[in-house]
Amino acid sequence: MTAAPEHSDAEAGSTLTDSALKPRGIFDPDLLAACISCGFCLPVCPTYAQTKAEADSPRGRITLMRALDEGRLDVDDSTLQEQAGRCLGCRRCETVCPAGVKYGELLEQWRDHQWRGRHTPPVAAALRAGVRVTPALTAGGLVRGAARPTGAADPQRPHLMLGCLERSLFPKVSKAVLKFLPDADVPAGQGCCGALHAHNGGSVEAAEMAQRLGATMPGTIVSTSGGCAAYLAHQLGHERVKEISEFLLARWEADPGSMPSLRRLTVDGRPARVGLKDSCQLRNGLGVIQPPRALIAKVADYVELPSAGVCCGGAGTYSMLQPEMSKAVLDPTLVQAREADLDYLVALNVVCTRQLQAGVKRARLRVKVVHLVELLELALPD
Ligand code: SF4
Ligand code: SF4
Repeated sequence: MTAAPEHSDAEAGSTLTDSALKPRGIFDPDLLAACISCGFCLPVCPTYAQTKAEADSPRGRITLMRALDEGRLDVDDSTLQEQAGRCLGCRRCETVCPAGVKYGELLEQWRDHQWRGRHTPPVAAALRAGVRVTPALTAGGLVRGAARPTGAADPQRPHLMLGCLERSLFPKVSKAVLKFLPDADVPAGQGCCGALHAHNGGSVEAAEMAQRLGATMPGTIVSTSGGCAAYLAHQLGHERVKEISEFLLARWEADPGSMPSLRRLTVDGRPARVGLKDSCQLRNGLGVIQPPRALIAKVADYVELPSAGVCCGGAGTYSMLQPEMSKAVLDPTLVQAREADLDYLVALNVVCTRQLQAGVKRARLRVKVVHLVELLELALPD
C-alpha cells in the first residue's frame, strides 16, 4: 500500500489550536470522530492527485469539518467555502478507509449546513429547483422520445424509473431499456429520487422525495442511472432498488431464456473495443462493479481502462461549479481511451454521459460515448 502522506491541521485550513470546544451539532459526532487521520485515503482521491494539497484530500476536508463543528472556523471561512464545493463526492476514499469512515454522509451533512441561504452556489440552487418541475420534465421527455407511462403500477412487475435529467437529456435510453425489460411498468407521475438534492445541500428534502417516489412504485424499482439507483437504494433498501446492469445480469443468469439473442458487435470487420467509466455512487456506494463489465463482454471485447473506477469529474453539478478541476480529473481517461483505441466508451449515469461526451469532443477522439443499454441495443438482431 502507498505510504500515507503526513499532514498538519494548518495545511488543511484549520487556524486555531485543538482546544476542546463545544460541538455545534452540524455533524453526526460518531461519523466525525471515526477518522483516525491515517491518510490511506489520500492516494485514491482524485482532487488530491491533482494538487497534492492536504485541503484537497479527504483527511484535510474532515479536519475542516471538525474545525467548523467545533467553532474554530466560521461558515464564511474561504477554505471551507471552497472545499465544500471542491470535493467530487465520489466516495472513492471510503473504499480504502480502514476505519470505515462514511465520508459521503459527512459531505451531505457539511453541505446541508454550508450551502444554505446566500452560501448556496447558484448552480446547485437552480438544479434543485429545476428537477422539482417533474410534469414539465416528463412532457419534454415525451416530446423527445422517452418511454411513455404505462399507467398504474403493478407491484408484481419491475418498475422502470425515469430519471429527471435522463428523461429530458437522453430520453431514448428509457426506450432502449424497455427492449430488455418487456414486462416493466413505467409508472406515471414519477418525481425525482432526491439524489441531486442530497448531494447539493438538501438532504432532508431529498429523503422525502425518495420516499414519495418509492410510494409511486411499489415493488422492485429499476434505474438506468447509477447515481439515482445508489441513492434510492440507500433510502429504500438495495433489495428493492436495482441499477439496470445488476438487474439484467441477475435475471439473465437465473433464467437464460429471458435473455434476448445478442450478436457480437464489430467495427470495420473486427470485434468492437469497448471501455467503461463506472458511476462513482454505484461502484463506491452500492458496490456494483462486475455486472456492467459482464454485460459489455457479452457483445464486445471489453477493455478495462486504468481509470475506469475513478470519477469522470461530472459529479452532479461539479462540472459547472469547478470546471477546471472537472476537466483535469477527466483528462487521464481521455488519454487512456485514445491509447486503448476504443470504439465505444460506456457510461452508467446521465451526468457521466454528458461529461464524457464533452471531453471526447474537446480531445477530438473518435470513441463514441453511449449508455450501457444503448450498446446492448446495437447488438439486438435487425
Ligand atoms: S469523495 Fe472523492 S473527491 Fe471527495 S474526498 Fe473522497 S475521494 Fe476525494
Ligand atoms: S478518512 Fe479513513 S483513510 Fe482517510 S484519513 Fe480518515 S481514517 Fe484514514
